[in-house]
Amino acid sequence: MGMLDGIRCIDELELAGQKVFIRVDFNVPLDKKTRAITDDERIRAALPTVKHAVEAGAKVILASHLGRPKGKPAPEFGMEPVGARLAELTGYEVFVPDDCVGEAAKKVVQDLRDRQVVLLENLRFHAEEEKNDDAFAKELASLCTVYVNDAFGAAHRAHASVEALPRLMQTRAMGFLMKSEVSNLSKVLETPEQPFVAVLGGAKVTDKIGVIESLLGKCSAICIGGAMANTLLAAKGHDMKASLVEKDFLAAARTLLEKARDKGIEIVLPSDVVVASSTEATSGTTVSVGSVPDGTLALDIGAASLDAFKKHVLGAKTVFWNGPMGLFENPAFSAGTSGMARALAEAPGFTVVGGGDSAAALRQAGDGLEAKISFVSTGGGAALELLEGQKLPGVEALRMPRG
Ligand code: ADP
Ligand code: MG
Repeated sequence: MGMLDGIRCIDELELAGQKVFIRVDFNVPLDKKTRAITDDERIRAALPTVKHAVEAGAKVILASHLGRPKGKPAPEFGMEPVGARLAELTGYEVFVPDDCVGEAAKKVVQDLRDRQVVLLENLRFHAEEEKNDDAFAKELASLCTVYVNDAFGAAHRAHASVEALPRLMQTRAMGFLMKSEVSNLSKVLETPEQPFVAVLGGAKVTDKIGVIESLLGKCSAICIGGAMANTLLAAKGHDMKASLVEKDFLAAARTLLEKARDKGIEIVLPSDVVVASSTEATSGTTVSVGSVPDGTLALDIGAASLDAFKKHVLGAKTVFWNGPMGLFENPAFSAGTSGMARALAEAPGFTVVGGGDSAAALRQAGDGLEAKISFVSTGGGAALELLEGQKLPGVEALRMPRG
Protein backbone atom coordinates (compact mmCIF):
# COMPACT_ATOMS: atom_id res chain seq x y z
CA MET A 1 0.00 0.00 0.00
CA GLY A 2 1.33 3.46 -0.88
CA MET A 3 1.80 5.87 1.98
CA LEU A 4 -0.90 8.21 0.62
CA ASP A 5 -3.55 5.58 -0.19
CA GLY A 6 -6.95 6.49 1.21
CA ILE A 7 -5.90 10.05 2.03
CA ARG A 8 -7.59 12.91 0.24
CA CYS A 9 -5.90 16.18 -0.63
CA ILE A 10 -7.47 19.58 0.06
CA ASP A 11 -7.97 20.21 -3.67
CA GLU A 12 -10.40 17.26 -3.82
CA LEU A 13 -12.76 18.86 -1.29
CA GLU A 14 -15.71 21.20 -1.72
CA LEU A 15 -14.74 24.12 0.52
CA ALA A 16 -17.11 26.99 -0.31
CA GLY A 17 -18.92 28.08 2.85
CA GLN A 18 -17.20 25.43 4.97
CA LYS A 19 -15.40 26.18 8.22
CA VAL A 20 -12.01 24.66 7.48
CA PHE A 21 -9.59 23.94 10.32
CA ILE A 22 -6.04 23.80 8.99
CA ARG A 23 -3.41 22.41 11.35
CA VAL A 24 -0.23 24.20 10.31
CA ASP A 25 3.30 24.08 11.67
CA PHE A 26 3.95 27.73 12.52
CA ASN A 27 6.46 26.77 15.20
CA VAL A 28 8.94 29.36 13.94
CA PRO A 29 12.18 30.34 15.68
CA LEU A 30 11.82 33.60 17.65
CA ASP A 31 14.54 35.96 18.82
CA LYS A 32 14.80 35.47 22.60
CA LYS A 33 14.87 39.18 23.41
CA THR A 34 12.72 40.87 20.78
CA ARG A 35 10.43 37.92 19.91
CA ALA A 36 10.92 38.78 16.25
CA ILE A 37 10.59 35.84 13.88
CA THR A 38 14.11 34.90 12.78
CA ASP A 39 13.05 32.50 9.99
CA ASP A 40 9.55 32.44 8.48
CA GLU A 41 10.09 29.45 6.18
CA ARG A 42 7.47 27.39 8.00
CA ILE A 43 4.82 30.06 7.49
CA ARG A 44 5.70 30.40 3.80
CA ALA A 45 5.58 26.63 3.34
CA ALA A 46 1.89 26.49 4.32
CA LEU A 47 0.76 29.43 2.16
CA PRO A 48 -0.35 27.42 -0.90
CA THR A 49 -2.80 25.48 1.28
CA VAL A 50 -4.01 28.53 3.19
CA LYS A 51 -4.53 30.55 -0.01
CA HIS A 52 -6.28 27.67 -1.74
CA ALA A 53 -8.83 27.43 1.08
CA VAL A 54 -9.41 31.18 1.26
CA GLU A 55 -9.81 31.46 -2.50
CA ALA A 56 -12.22 28.53 -2.54
CA GLY A 57 -14.50 30.56 -0.26
CA ALA A 58 -13.89 28.75 3.04
CA LYS A 59 -13.83 30.28 6.49
CA VAL A 60 -10.25 29.42 7.40
CA ILE A 61 -9.17 28.56 10.94
CA LEU A 62 -5.43 28.08 11.32
CA ALA A 63 -3.95 26.39 14.39
CA SER A 64 -0.42 25.62 15.50
CA HIS A 65 1.81 25.21 18.49
CA LEU A 66 4.71 27.57 19.15
CA GLY A 67 7.59 26.78 21.46
CA ARG A 68 7.16 24.90 24.71
CA PRO A 69 4.68 26.75 26.92
CA LYS A 70 4.18 23.65 29.11
CA GLY A 71 0.41 23.38 28.95
CA LYS A 72 -0.54 26.85 30.18
CA PRO A 73 -0.76 30.34 28.71
CA ALA A 74 2.68 31.95 28.39
CA PRO A 75 2.72 35.40 26.74
CA GLU A 76 6.21 34.84 25.26
CA PHE A 77 4.75 32.02 23.14
CA GLY A 78 1.67 33.90 21.92
CA MET A 79 0.78 33.62 18.22
CA GLU A 80 0.45 37.40 17.70
CA PRO A 81 3.83 37.90 15.90
CA VAL A 82 3.09 34.90 13.69
CA GLY A 83 -0.31 36.34 12.81
CA ALA A 84 1.32 39.65 11.92
CA ARG A 85 3.81 37.97 9.60
CA LEU A 86 1.05 35.88 8.01
CA ALA A 87 -0.91 39.08 7.32
CA GLU A 88 2.19 40.64 5.69
CA LEU A 89 2.78 37.58 3.53
CA THR A 90 -0.82 37.13 2.37
CA GLY A 91 -2.50 40.51 2.57
CA TYR A 92 -5.28 38.82 4.57
CA GLU A 93 -6.61 40.26 7.78
CA VAL A 94 -5.59 37.81 10.53
CA PHE A 95 -7.49 37.56 13.81
CA VAL A 96 -5.84 35.93 16.81
CA PRO A 97 -8.41 35.21 19.55
CA ASP A 98 -7.11 34.90 23.15
CA ASP A 99 -7.78 31.20 23.33
CA CYS A 100 -7.89 28.37 20.77
CA VAL A 101 -11.19 27.02 22.14
CA GLY A 102 -14.32 28.52 23.69
CA GLU A 103 -17.01 31.02 22.76
CA ALA A 104 -14.71 33.86 21.75
CA ALA A 105 -12.93 31.69 19.19
CA LYS A 106 -16.28 30.44 17.87
CA LYS A 107 -17.58 33.96 17.46
CA VAL A 108 -14.49 35.12 15.54
CA VAL A 109 -14.89 32.17 13.16
CA GLN A 110 -18.61 32.88 12.72
CA ASP A 111 -17.98 36.54 11.86
CA LEU A 112 -15.22 35.91 9.29
CA ARG A 113 -15.60 37.74 6.02
CA ASP A 114 -13.81 37.55 2.70
CA ARG A 115 -9.99 37.69 2.94
CA GLN A 116 -10.04 37.34 6.70
CA VAL A 117 -8.66 34.31 8.53
CA VAL A 118 -8.43 33.18 12.13
CA LEU A 119 -5.15 32.06 13.65
CA LEU A 120 -6.03 30.35 16.91
CA GLU A 121 -3.90 31.04 19.97
CA ASN A 122 -1.13 28.53 20.74
CA LEU A 123 -2.60 25.02 21.03
CA ARG A 124 -0.04 24.11 23.69
CA PHE A 125 -1.49 26.68 26.09
CA HIS A 126 -3.70 23.67 26.93
CA ALA A 127 -1.98 20.61 28.43
CA GLU A 128 -4.69 18.49 26.75
CA GLU A 129 -3.10 19.15 23.34
CA GLU A 130 0.00 17.09 24.04
CA LYS A 131 -2.10 14.48 25.88
CA ASN A 132 -4.14 13.83 22.73
CA ASP A 133 -7.20 14.52 24.89
CA ASP A 134 -10.56 13.65 23.35
CA ALA A 135 -12.63 16.31 25.12
CA PHE A 136 -10.20 19.01 23.95
CA ALA A 137 -10.31 17.60 20.42
CA LYS A 138 -14.14 17.79 20.58
CA GLU A 139 -13.92 21.46 21.49
CA LEU A 140 -11.69 22.09 18.49
CA ALA A 141 -14.03 20.01 16.32
CA SER A 142 -16.95 22.24 17.32
CA LEU A 143 -15.22 25.15 15.55
CA CYS A 144 -15.14 23.56 12.11
CA THR A 145 -16.78 21.37 9.47
CA VAL A 146 -13.66 20.27 7.57
CA TYR A 147 -10.21 19.26 8.85
CA VAL A 148 -6.97 19.67 6.92
CA ASN A 149 -3.50 18.82 8.16
CA ASP A 150 -0.60 20.65 6.56
CA ALA A 151 1.71 20.42 9.58
CA PHE A 152 4.15 17.78 8.41
CA GLY A 153 6.64 18.92 11.07
CA ALA A 154 4.16 17.85 13.77
CA ALA A 155 2.88 14.67 12.09
CA HIS A 156 5.02 12.39 14.25
CA ARG A 157 3.28 13.61 17.40
CA ALA A 158 0.02 12.00 18.53
CA HIS A 159 -1.36 15.29 19.84
CA ALA A 160 -5.02 16.32 19.97
CA SER A 161 -4.96 18.66 16.96
CA VAL A 162 -2.98 16.11 14.94
CA GLU A 163 -4.51 12.77 15.91
CA ALA A 164 -7.70 12.85 18.03
CA LEU A 165 -9.28 15.77 16.11
CA PRO A 166 -9.11 14.37 12.56
CA ARG A 167 -10.53 11.07 13.80
CA LEU A 168 -13.62 13.00 14.92
CA MET A 169 -14.07 14.64 11.52
CA GLN A 170 -16.00 13.09 8.62
CA THR A 171 -14.26 15.30 6.09
CA ARG A 172 -10.50 15.30 6.52
CA ALA A 173 -7.60 15.76 4.14
CA MET A 174 -3.97 16.66 3.80
CA GLY A 175 -2.71 20.03 2.61
CA PHE A 176 -0.27 20.55 -0.27
CA LEU A 177 2.81 20.68 1.97
CA MET A 178 1.88 17.46 3.74
CA LYS A 179 1.29 15.78 0.39
CA SER A 180 4.58 16.88 -1.05
CA GLU A 181 6.53 15.91 2.10
CA VAL A 182 5.02 12.44 2.35
CA SER A 183 5.24 11.68 -1.36
CA ASN A 184 8.86 12.85 -1.76
CA LEU A 185 10.10 11.16 1.40
CA SER A 186 8.22 7.95 0.72
CA LYS A 187 9.75 7.86 -2.76
CA VAL A 188 13.17 7.78 -1.05
CA LEU A 189 12.03 5.13 1.39
CA GLU A 190 9.94 2.87 -0.81
CA THR A 191 11.09 3.17 -4.40
CA PRO A 192 14.58 4.73 -4.53
CA GLU A 193 16.28 4.47 -7.90
CA GLN A 194 19.68 2.78 -7.52
CA PRO A 195 22.39 3.60 -6.80
CA PHE A 196 20.93 5.21 -3.70
CA VAL A 197 23.47 7.05 -1.54
CA ALA A 198 22.75 8.49 1.90
CA VAL A 199 24.87 11.19 3.49
CA LEU A 200 24.47 11.43 7.23
CA GLY A 201 25.98 13.77 9.79
CA GLY A 202 25.02 15.83 12.78
CA ALA A 203 25.64 15.56 16.45
CA LYS A 204 24.91 12.02 17.57
CA VAL A 205 24.78 8.52 16.12
CA THR A 206 22.25 7.56 18.77
CA ASP A 207 19.76 10.16 17.34
CA LYS A 208 20.07 8.60 13.91
CA ILE A 209 20.50 4.91 14.61
CA GLY A 210 16.94 4.10 13.49
CA VAL A 211 17.50 5.88 10.19
CA ILE A 212 20.83 4.15 9.61
CA GLU A 213 19.26 0.75 10.30
CA SER A 214 16.40 1.49 7.91
CA LEU A 215 18.76 2.80 5.19
CA LEU A 216 21.04 -0.22 5.50
CA GLY A 217 18.38 -2.21 3.71
CA LYS A 218 18.05 0.27 0.86
CA CYS A 219 21.27 2.15 0.09
CA SER A 220 24.33 1.15 -1.84
CA ALA A 221 26.53 3.44 0.26
CA ILE A 222 26.24 5.64 3.34
CA CYS A 223 28.70 8.54 3.71
CA ILE A 224 28.99 9.62 7.33
CA GLY A 225 30.44 12.93 8.53
CA GLY A 226 29.83 15.31 11.43
CA ALA A 227 30.32 14.40 15.06
CA MET A 228 28.58 11.10 14.25
CA ALA A 229 31.62 10.06 12.25
CA ASN A 230 33.86 10.53 15.31
CA THR A 231 32.09 7.75 17.16
CA LEU A 232 32.37 5.39 14.18
CA LEU A 233 36.03 6.29 13.64
CA ALA A 234 36.69 5.65 17.34
CA ALA A 235 34.89 2.30 17.03
CA LYS A 236 37.35 1.44 14.26
CA GLY A 237 40.24 2.15 16.61
CA HIS A 238 41.14 5.76 15.84
CA ASP A 239 42.01 7.98 18.78
CA MET A 240 39.74 11.00 18.29
CA LYS A 241 41.28 12.79 21.28
CA ALA A 242 39.00 15.63 22.56
CA SER A 243 36.34 15.15 19.81
CA LEU A 244 32.71 14.45 20.61
CA VAL A 245 32.53 10.66 20.83
CA GLU A 246 29.63 8.65 22.25
CA LYS A 247 31.64 6.27 24.38
CA ASP A 248 28.64 4.17 25.44
CA PHE A 249 27.87 3.47 21.83
CA LEU A 250 31.21 2.10 20.66
CA ALA A 251 30.22 -1.57 20.87
CA ALA A 252 26.93 -0.93 19.08
CA ALA A 253 28.82 1.08 16.46
CA ARG A 254 31.07 -1.91 15.77
CA THR A 255 28.00 -4.13 15.35
CA LEU A 256 26.54 -1.60 12.95
CA LEU A 257 29.71 -1.53 10.84
CA GLU A 258 29.72 -5.34 10.73
CA LYS A 259 26.08 -5.43 9.71
CA ALA A 260 26.80 -3.05 6.83
CA ARG A 261 29.75 -5.15 5.73
CA ASP A 262 27.64 -8.33 5.78
CA LYS A 263 25.02 -6.65 3.59
CA GLY A 264 27.66 -5.35 1.19
CA ILE A 265 26.82 -1.72 1.93
CA GLU A 266 29.73 0.64 1.88
CA ILE A 267 30.04 2.90 4.92
CA VAL A 268 32.24 5.78 3.82
CA LEU A 269 33.93 7.52 6.75
CA PRO A 270 36.12 10.63 6.64
CA SER A 271 39.82 10.08 5.88
CA ASP A 272 40.71 13.59 7.04
CA VAL A 273 39.15 16.05 9.48
CA VAL A 274 39.51 19.71 10.43
CA VAL A 275 40.64 20.01 14.04
CA ALA A 276 40.98 22.85 16.54
CA SER A 277 41.48 23.16 20.27
CA SER A 278 38.02 24.66 20.88
CA THR A 279 34.67 25.00 19.17
CA GLU A 280 35.15 28.79 19.27
CA ALA A 281 38.39 28.69 17.29
CA THR A 282 38.52 31.01 14.28
CA SER A 283 40.44 28.54 12.13
CA GLY A 284 41.28 24.85 12.03
CA THR A 285 43.95 22.49 10.70
CA THR A 286 43.31 19.54 8.41
CA VAL A 287 44.82 16.26 9.61
CA SER A 288 44.40 12.62 8.71
CA VAL A 289 42.01 10.69 10.98
CA GLY A 290 44.95 8.63 12.16
CA SER A 291 46.79 11.61 13.59
CA VAL A 292 44.43 13.86 15.50
CA PRO A 293 46.71 15.93 17.79
CA ASP A 294 46.35 15.78 21.58
CA GLY A 295 43.83 18.25 23.01
CA THR A 296 42.04 18.90 19.71
CA LEU A 297 38.53 18.13 18.43
CA ALA A 298 37.44 17.13 14.95
CA LEU A 299 34.94 19.82 13.93
CA ASP A 300 34.53 19.31 10.18
CA ILE A 301 35.37 16.81 7.47
CA GLY A 302 38.50 17.58 5.44
CA ALA A 303 38.77 18.32 1.71
CA ALA A 304 39.80 14.76 0.77
CA SER A 305 36.77 13.34 2.61
CA LEU A 306 34.46 15.84 0.96
CA ASP A 307 35.84 14.79 -2.42
CA ALA A 308 35.22 11.13 -1.71
CA PHE A 309 31.66 11.78 -0.47
CA LYS A 310 31.04 13.99 -3.50
CA LYS A 311 31.99 11.20 -5.93
CA HIS A 312 29.31 9.00 -4.39
CA VAL A 313 26.71 11.77 -4.50
CA LEU A 314 27.41 12.71 -8.12
CA GLY A 315 27.21 9.11 -9.26
CA ALA A 316 23.92 8.34 -7.50
CA LYS A 317 20.38 8.23 -8.90
CA THR A 318 18.93 8.95 -5.45
CA VAL A 319 20.58 10.94 -2.65
CA PHE A 320 19.28 11.54 0.84
CA TRP A 321 21.16 13.95 3.09
CA ASN A 322 20.58 14.48 6.79
CA GLY A 323 22.87 16.17 9.29
CA PRO A 324 25.64 18.76 8.83
CA MET A 325 29.18 17.55 8.09
CA GLY A 326 30.62 19.68 10.89
CA LEU A 327 30.03 22.47 13.35
CA PHE A 328 28.69 24.61 10.50
CA GLU A 329 27.43 27.38 12.81
CA ASN A 330 31.08 28.44 13.09
CA PRO A 331 32.29 29.59 9.63
CA ALA A 332 35.72 28.08 10.38
CA PHE A 333 34.08 24.63 10.27
CA SER A 334 31.37 25.06 7.66
CA ALA A 335 33.31 24.14 4.50
CA GLY A 336 32.40 20.45 4.62
CA THR A 337 28.71 21.23 5.01
CA SER A 338 28.56 23.96 2.35
CA GLY A 339 30.62 21.75 0.03
CA MET A 340 28.11 18.95 0.53
CA ALA A 341 25.26 21.38 -0.17
CA ARG A 342 26.95 22.32 -3.46
CA ALA A 343 27.48 18.65 -4.33
CA LEU A 344 23.79 17.90 -3.85
CA ALA A 345 22.84 20.92 -5.94
CA GLU A 346 25.10 19.68 -8.75
CA ALA A 347 24.08 16.05 -8.49
CA PRO A 348 22.01 14.78 -11.45
CA GLY A 349 19.96 12.33 -9.36
CA PHE A 350 16.83 12.80 -7.23
CA THR A 351 18.14 14.69 -4.19
CA VAL A 352 16.36 15.05 -0.87
CA VAL A 353 17.45 16.90 2.27
CA GLY A 354 15.79 16.27 5.63
CA GLY A 355 16.53 17.53 9.14
CA GLY A 356 16.15 20.92 10.80
CA ASP A 357 19.82 21.84 11.01
CA SER A 358 20.60 20.41 7.59
CA ALA A 359 17.94 22.58 5.95
CA ALA A 360 19.21 25.61 7.90
CA ALA A 361 22.78 24.85 6.79
CA LEU A 362 21.61 24.63 3.21
CA ARG A 363 19.99 28.04 3.45
CA GLN A 364 23.10 29.43 5.18
CA ALA A 365 25.21 28.18 2.26
CA GLY A 366 23.20 30.55 0.02
CA ASP A 367 23.92 30.78 -3.72
CA GLY A 368 20.41 29.61 -4.54
CA LEU A 369 21.49 26.03 -3.78
CA GLU A 370 18.18 25.15 -2.15
CA ALA A 371 16.33 25.62 -5.45
CA LYS A 372 18.63 23.09 -7.13
CA ILE A 373 17.79 20.30 -4.70
CA SER A 374 14.86 18.12 -5.75
CA PHE A 375 13.19 18.33 -2.34
CA VAL A 376 14.02 19.97 1.00
CA SER A 377 11.88 18.70 3.84
CA THR A 378 10.51 21.17 6.40
CA GLY A 379 10.03 18.41 8.94
CA GLY A 380 13.00 17.54 11.15
CA GLY A 381 11.90 14.77 13.51
CA ALA A 382 8.92 13.80 11.36
CA ALA A 383 11.08 13.26 8.28
CA LEU A 384 13.50 11.08 10.22
CA GLU A 385 10.71 8.98 11.72
CA LEU A 386 9.17 8.48 8.29
CA LEU A 387 12.54 7.36 6.93
CA GLU A 388 12.92 5.00 9.85
CA GLY A 389 9.85 3.30 8.42
CA GLN A 390 7.57 4.37 11.26
CA LYS A 391 3.93 5.24 10.71
CA LEU A 392 3.24 8.91 11.51
CA PRO A 393 0.13 9.38 13.70
CA GLY A 394 -0.82 12.62 11.91
CA VAL A 395 -0.75 10.87 8.52
CA GLU A 396 -2.55 7.72 9.68
CA ALA A 397 -5.37 9.79 11.23
CA LEU A 398 -6.16 11.26 7.79
CA ARG A 399 -6.67 7.87 6.13
CA MET A 400 -10.29 6.96 5.42
CA PRO A 401 -11.48 3.47 6.26
CA ARG A 402 -11.74 1.21 3.20
CA GLY A 403 -15.04 0.35 1.58
P1 ADP B 1 19.60 17.72 11.85
O1 ADP B 1 18.83 18.73 12.65
O2 ADP B 1 19.84 18.20 10.44
O3 ADP B 1 19.01 16.35 11.90
P2 ADP B 1 21.47 17.25 14.01
O4 ADP B 1 20.55 17.95 14.95
O5 ADP B 1 21.64 15.80 14.15
O6 ADP B 1 21.09 17.62 12.49
O7 ADP B 1 22.94 17.84 14.17
C1 ADP B 1 23.26 19.19 13.98
C2 ADP B 1 24.31 19.66 14.94
O8 ADP B 1 25.46 18.82 14.89
C3 ADP B 1 24.78 21.04 14.58
O9 ADP B 1 24.51 21.92 15.67
C4 ADP B 1 26.28 20.89 14.35
O10 ADP B 1 27.04 21.96 14.85
C5 ADP B 1 26.58 19.63 15.13
N1 ADP B 1 27.83 18.99 14.66
C6 ADP B 1 28.05 18.43 13.47
N2 ADP B 1 29.32 17.98 13.36
C7 ADP B 1 29.93 18.27 14.54
C8 ADP B 1 31.25 18.05 15.06
N3 ADP B 1 32.19 17.44 14.36
N4 ADP B 1 31.49 18.46 16.33
C9 ADP B 1 30.54 19.07 17.04
N5 ADP B 1 29.28 19.32 16.60
C10 ADP B 1 28.98 18.92 15.37
MG1 MG C 1 18.81 19.17 14.78
